[in-house]
Amino acid sequence: MSDDIKYIDDDNKEIVQGEQTEEQDPKENGEQEPENRRRPPRICYMCRRSESKAGRLIEIPGGICVCSDCMQKSFDSMQNGAFDYSEIMRNLPPGMGMFDFSRLNLFDGMFGGNEKDSHSSSRKNKHAGQTLKHAEGDAGSAADSGEEDGYHTHRVMTMQDVLPPHKIKEALDEYVIGQDQAKKIMSVGVYNHYKRILSEPKDDVEIVKSNMLMIGPTGSGKTYLVQTLARLLNVPLAMTDATSLTEAGYIGDDIESVVSKLLMAADNDVERAEHGIIFIDEIDKIAKKKNASQRDVSGEAVQQGLLKLLEGSDVEVPVGATNKNAMVPLETVNTSNILFICGGAFPDLEDIIKQRLNKTASIGFQADLRDKYDKDPNLLQKVTLEDLRKFGMIPEFLGRMPIVFALHSLTEDMLVDVLREPRNAILKQYERLLELDEVKLSFDDDALHAIARKAMERDTGARALRAVIEEFMLDIMYEIPKDKNIGEVVITKKYIEHTGGPRIILRSAPVPRIEG
Ligand code: ADP
Repeated sequence: MSDDIKYIDDDNKEIVQGEQTEEQDPKENGEQEPENRRRPPRICYMCRRSESKAGRLIEIPGGICVCSDCMQKSFDSMQNGAFDYSEIMRNLPPGMGMFDFSRLNLFDGMFGGNEKDSHSSSRKNKHAGQTLKHAEGDAGSAADSGEEDGYHTHRVMTMQDVLPPHKIKEALDEYVIGQDQAKKIMSVGVYNHYKRILSEPKDDVEIVKSNMLMIGPTGSGKTYLVQTLARLLNVPLAMTDATSLTEAGYIGDDIESVVSKLLMAADNDVERAEHGIIFIDEIDKIAKKKNASQRDVSGEAVQQGLLKLLEGSDVEVPVGATNKNAMVPLETVNTSNILFICGGAFPDLEDIIKQRLNKTASIGFQADLRDKYDKDPNLLQKVTLEDLRKFGMIPEFLGRMPIVFALHSLTEDMLVDVLREPRNAILKQYERLLELDEVKLSFDDDALHAIARKAMERDTGARALRAVIEEFMLDIMYEIPKDKNIGEVVITKKYIEHTGGPRIILRSAPVPRIEG
């Protein structure tokens, strides 16, 4: 232990090493003790009280003493599922480094000692808090067993936890409107991905990783699809914006920061993070800059930097921060089994596809069909790797994205469905809110179409729906609870178009007044 530790007693007085302490044998008073028999006063490393004040101290490996009160507090906080050993860390003498809980036999058994759930013993000790959560999961905690919606399973994934593709698609259908082909491709891709990582590896066949590249206009449901998927599979998800990433050493987030985010989403459980999903949005923004005269630190260099992660490598990431410079411990996360899904709107990609198709069409007897593709709503579905390469994605990056698919832009009818069909549809949420005031809320069909048309004007897909609907629902939510006689409100097209009001239907029988 370091010589320059200062021991402070309860009255803030410094105790000099070897100084007479209260617990010394009175017999020894006045006698010169041999140098090698003197021992420093024992004080609790957490509350700094001396043994005389705190009672008998428990000595743990590393020469650390903790009083029984502090030990109890630690156990209590562990039982609440949030073991915070920063308190111990903060009070460690300089040079002590990381406190190694693996040497603390006291914790054995407390974490269940369940080999099925304890990954590796070192990990178990490093993530004492998380391991405790695993143990709770075994005991049937609702959050972990996920009985609530029937899809969530234990934290340690097995093949039984992965739904077959048709079930994944069915579950996605409950939330995401349209995009049938995309949902099908994703369901199969995800199923194969987890089959690949959860099955026994065989020497002769190596299944390639099913990283995905999703192309679709803003507000078509790219992010929503990935979020829903991760929730269904109960795997951690980290989302990042490719625009914020830069080559290491430049202003912006390091590429590896996406892995730190995933580790955070997995509550610092490395094994769980290694089975997670990373979604990189706006991937089209890191296309190679055309005619770049300077080093392309936020474009091509980021694509280059991502290659290692996409393929699978060991990445050292800080725990609890996205910045390696922070004084935080590092963990090694292997990215081989992390599923990467990249998404982007790829503006102008349609022109590239059209150009290619027109080129083919201008040869021979098809020459008269030159403008055939100008109004093709499914143009993006015809994308090829060559088109993406022309757009500015480097071939090595595309080579690591074996699954490429496109989403459709949402039509007026689809937007109406987005409003009312999904399990957590926005209309259902408003209906429920007014139901709590005992008022029935309903929408005329043409009112819904009017909302969808207004949203389409904003050109941000389904994203605009909430903004449009909130605009006029504010008055409804404000005014209706004022009058207890109102039993039903019908939102009309006129109300949406500001040419009339909603239809108000009063309750048939008067509402009894509640006095007091
Ligand atoms: P982007 O394609 O730009 O990532 P998002 O997935 O973020 O778009 O969509 C924004 C919001 O719009 C989502 O949170 C979701 O509520 C809604 N949304 C978008 N597309 C759909 C869809 N196909 N079905 C249901 N809701 C959708």
